[in-house]
Amino acid sequence: MQQHDTHTLRQDDSRHHLHPFTDTKALGSGSRIITGADGIYIHDSEGNRILDGMAGLWCVNLGYGRRELVEAAAAQMTELPYYNNFFKTAHPPAIKLAKKLTELAPGHINHVFFTGSGSESNDTVVRMVRRYWQLKGQPQKTVIIGRRNGYHGSTLAGASLGGMAPMHEQGGPMLPDVAHIAQPYWFGEGREMSPQEFGLLAAQSLEQKIKELGVERVAAFIAEPVQGAGGVIIPPDSYWPEIQRICDHYGILLVADEVICGFGRLGQWFGSQHFNIKPDLMPIAKGLSSGYLPIGGVLVGDRVAEVLIEQGGEFYHGFTYSGHPACAAVALRNLELMEEEGILERVRELTGPYFAKQWATLADHPLVGEVRSLGLLGALELVADKTTLARFEPGIGAQCRDNCFATGIVMRSVGETMVVSPPLVITEAQIDELVRLARQSLDLTARQLGLMD
Ligand code: PMP
Repeated sequence: MQQHDTHTLRQDDSRHHLHPFTDTKALGSGSRIITGADGIYIHDSEGNRILDGMAGLWCVNLGYGRRELVEAAAAQMTELPYYNNFFKTAHPPAIKLAKKLTELAPGHINHVFFTGSGSESNDTVVRMVRRYWQLKGQPQKTVIIGRRNGYHGSTLAGASLGGMAPMHEQGGPMLPDVAHIAQPYWFGEGREMSPQEFGLLAAQSLEQKIKELGVERVAAFIAEPVQGAGGVIIPPDSYWPEIQRICDHYGILLVADEVICGFGRLGQWFGSQHFNIKPDLMPIAKGLSSGYLPIGGVLVGDRVAEVLIEQGGEFYHGFTYSGHPACAAVALRNLELMEEEGILERVRELTGPYFAKQWATLADHPLVGEVRSLGLLGALELVADKTTLARFEPGIGAQCRDNCFATGIVMRSVGETMVVSPPLVITEAQIDELVRLARQSLDLTARQLGLMD
């Protein structure tokens, strides 16, 4: 195994490396240096083995150390490391992956446009949606409606579609003709009514927004089936059917951002299948390649594809790495492995229900106000008072996240919400371990706060 000089690495890191989503000045004693990984565990340069409760950034669905994926990359890089799909060229891995993806997607989806990431996929969504309405003779339909606290990436279009206020505040203005509506976050914003009533109300804010803007201006609605980065916000059952009804009624395009929920996270190929909705466009990335190489795309339903293809002529859009051969070969192998290993059935029938049961046992913890999960996504709401559900001052979530690392588990904090999204290959015994480590991290936090002995 390679030896690493942690001190030098940390010094060089803080001197030269501007990290994503990080306060570089506050790095303090330096970053944790991750040097290796196997299965559902990561290793750091100080010899710690840590259970990766986040599958990297919600992406390493088949777990670390998969030789099959390494071999798929090596074979493709040996044969053809790069070529593009521009100007009437193509290559086998991109073609095979396109065919496979459209076989896995619902029947009305038969095309895919490849990108290099989730953010690029959402940029592609904006351009495609606007082009569609232009071709339909309604070029004034340019407004895309997203949700507050939604996440769709970090490029200008991704950040604009997303509803993360701190991102909007840094270096605006954001993209014009993007609007936002309420999120279906019952614990945070709707507890005075039943979840079903609240879900309906949150969905109806889409109808209000369409009326306010005028339907002649509204092009599409975009949302994650379950908000991930916003805090694993699982909408009440009443939410998605009402959203689908509104999109159908007003004829606006429905975009389901499947970057996290796609590829088995909810026990189906796509999160929208779990919620029984019929999106016109589905941006994808992350789990498509289990994060082994960067690749994303937009799955395009027939309603849009037919117009773009039949009437659109050349679409002036594409990335150097759209359908990159090595990335496509790895993604294809990843999807085959998911099928061979029955990952969807496993999440749906075995590990998802088992995780739900074990995760729910954390509800008795003094710091926990709500426990929720769906498939292999889970969240805990930290509260100062279990009866009134009063929140802590900001900062406890980050403290708990640091305690998780010290305890030997990666969990993410979103404000005062702790979230997990483990690799989909996690076993029942490893779920027990995850829940045990989560409890230890909560105990440590509660002791630091003087709430436990
Ligand atoms: N959409 C969603 C739902 C995401 O969760 C993310 C990434 N967390 C993105 C888009 C952006 O993907 P990327 O970071 O690959 O650009």
